[in-house]
Amino acid sequence: MTYDKNNIFAKILRGEVPCDKIYENKYSLAFKDINPQANVHILIIPKGQYIDVDDFLKNASQDEIVSLMQAVTEVCKITKVASSEGGNGFRLIANTGVDGSQEVPHFHFHVMGGEPMGLRGLRRS
Ligand code: 5GP
Repeated sequence: MTYDKNNIFAKILRGEVPCDKIYENKYSLAFKDINPQANVHILIIPKGQYIDVDDFLKNASQDEIVSLMQAVTEVCKITKVASSEGGNGFRLIANTGVDGSQEVPHFHFHVMGGEPMGLRGLRRS
C-alpha cells in the first residue's frame, strides 16, 4: 500500500485544510478531532508520510518516534487528562488498517478522556 498524499491529514499538514491546533513540535502535530467522541478528543500525527503505526515504527527515525511520544506527553499535560496533571486518565488509540477501522490513512493517535470512557472506542459496532 502506498501513502495517499491527498488524505485529509496530509492536507492539514500542507495547510490546505484548517485544524484546531493544540500542540506542535519538529516532527509532530496535535489538533482537536472534528467529530469529538469525548470531552477531550485530540489527534496526534507525525509530519512524515506514514500510513499507520506499523509503517511508522518500521520506517520512522528515532527522532520522529521520540518526538511523537513527547507530543503525547505534552497533549496530556495541556488537556490535563494525565493523572500526573491531576486528571483521571485517558484512552490512547491507534486504529490500524481495515480490521482496526482506520478511516484516515495517515498514522494518528487518538487521545480521549476528560470523562469516564467506558468502552467507547473499543466496542464492536
Ligand atoms: P480513524 O478512524 O482513522 O482512527 O479516525 C480518524 C479521525 O479523524 C476521526 O475521529 C475523524 O473524526 C477525524 N477527522 C476526519 N476528518 C477530519 C478533519 O478534517 N479534521 C479533523 N480535525 N479531524 C478529522
